[in-house]
Amino acid sequence: MERNAIRLFLAVVTAVLVLAAPATGGGQTTPSAPLRAQPPLSVRLYVIDCGTLHIADLGRFQLKKEEVTTTDLSVACFLVVHPKGTLIWDTGAVPDAAWKPTGSPVTQHIVLPDSQERDVTVVKSLKAQLAELGYSPSDITYLALSHYHYDHTANANEFAAATWLVRQVERDAMLAEKPPGTTQPSTYSALRHSKTLILKNDEHDVFGDGTVVIKSAPGHTPGHQILYLKLAKTGGVVLSGDLYHYPEERVLDRVPTFEFNPEQTRATRVAIEAFLKKTGAQLWIQHDFNGNAKLKKSPNFYE
Ligand SMILES: [Zn+2]
Repeated sequence: MERNAIRLFLAVVTAVLVLAAPATGGGQTTPSAPLRAQPPLSVRLYVIDCGTLHIADLGRFQLKKEEVTTTDLSVACFLVVHPKGTLIWDTGAVPDAAWKPTGSPVTQHIVLPDSQERDVTVVKSLKAQLAELGYSPSDITYLALSHYHYDHTANANEFAAATWLVRQVERDAMLAEKPPGTTQPSTYSALRHSKTLILKNDEHDVFGDGTVVIKSAPGHTPGHQILYLKLAKTGGVVLSGDLYHYPEERVLDRVPTFEFNPEQTRATRVAIEAFLKKTGAQLWIQHDFNGNAKLKKSPNFYE
């Protein structure tokens, strides 16, 4: 009798908790923070604001000031939520631990190990934006970085419990005794001990159903990659990594001066443009300030 009473009590408690769970449909509501998110029925893509990068020297992109509409670059992070798990794609330019959100934009001055300097403006931490969706970094199943530059790796250490999806050449360069310039190794050093899946093929189907596919796109860095998403309502979307930074690079056919291999970048661009044509997918240039400004931001989502 007593045991049945306990069971009944537990059943009631469970029912109350389920009823109290936040509404996550429609993408319009903001779930309250500490509750865990439930897996959706179809793939969702959240665009997370990881700041704005101010570029002083356009020459590095083989562009002139009069050729671009803005010199600013967006810094975007993306969370993909699939019924079978989650994937974080790129982790920002400023580590959450390095600044305190005030609700107003905060500009951080970054000095890279090779003495290059950058200014990045941030408003919300990545962790806070994930918490708003009901996730903490330790809940995330997979981590994939488009590439190793500092403006994509800032919070990578937070995702050390995830399975890291990376190409061998990229991992080797990142963890070498002397990592390449424009990296901030202290932000991703914990990945050395992460469970790691080395991607060997041109395409890696993350959840096995063709909806979330990492494609090899070398040139910018040796193991640079892009993300192809097949969304039920939105259709195909390709997250560019740094295949281009400014949309004008695409229109005017300019290749930055700091590519690992510019010839490889050109060949990759041709291949990806053909892929876009074949699939009809949209290309979202992650650093395109104006393009990014038009996207729905988390907690809203694309599906
Ligand atoms: Zn970048």
